[in-house]
Amino acid sequence: MIKKLLVTGLAVAVTLSVSAAAELTIVQKPIIYDETREKLSLEYLKARYNIEQEKAHIVPKMVVVHWTAIPTLERSFNAFKRPTLPGFRTEIASAGALNVSAHYLIDQDGTVYQLLPNTAFARHVIGLNHTAIGIENVGDGNDNPLTEAQLQANIDLIKKLAAEFDIEYVIGHHEYTLFENHPLFLEVNKNYRTTKSDPGDAFMAKIRLQLGELNLKALP
Ligand SMILES: [Zn+2]
Repeated sequence: MIKKLLVTGLAVAVTLSVSAAAELTIVQKPIIYDETREKLSLEYLKARYNIEQEKAHIVPKMVVVHWTAIPTLERSFNAFKRPTLPGFRTEIASAGALNVSAHYLIDQDGTVYQLLPNTAFARHVIGLNHTAIGIENVGDGNDNPLTEAQLQANIDLIKKLAAEFDIEYVIGHHEYTLFENHPLFLEVNKNYRTTKSDPGDAFMAKIRLQLGELNLKALP
């Protein structure tokens, strides 16, 4: 009886993950990844995390969910497109000239755009960039709230990533400081922190409701 239940449970899990993967269309929309971005990424890894690597790749163990605080897809994309940080980002410029980016950008209609390969280095969360895949969502917490279509796309995308990588944590950007004393958190300067509100507790609670099958670790 127990054996039969286990087999049935497994069959259901496989069916779910296959259907989620089949329904999710990912549109390739690469940002510029040139020698400059690679060089600045390697410099960031060394300066912020004391990690010296030949290539600016990551070992994904975490997914970090964001909103862009920019109302349109194209303007959000353009914020990440170039390799160097624009001059107005003074609050994070001291930590390096590498521009911010993320691996995915999800529009308000739920369309998923991939900006970078999953294992490329991206600057999107202090302390955890060496291990975090970033998902940005077009929108904010005010005039352009995240949509139901974005919620479903985040859930489907995270399930797909978890099928490919050993994802232990799924967090909102606003939760990153909870990892300050965690072994994964490598930022060398304890004073280099930003205060983040994206994407908020309500959105993360709705995502987590649908990720039970992934057996994620609890936040520290
Ligand atoms: Zn963010």
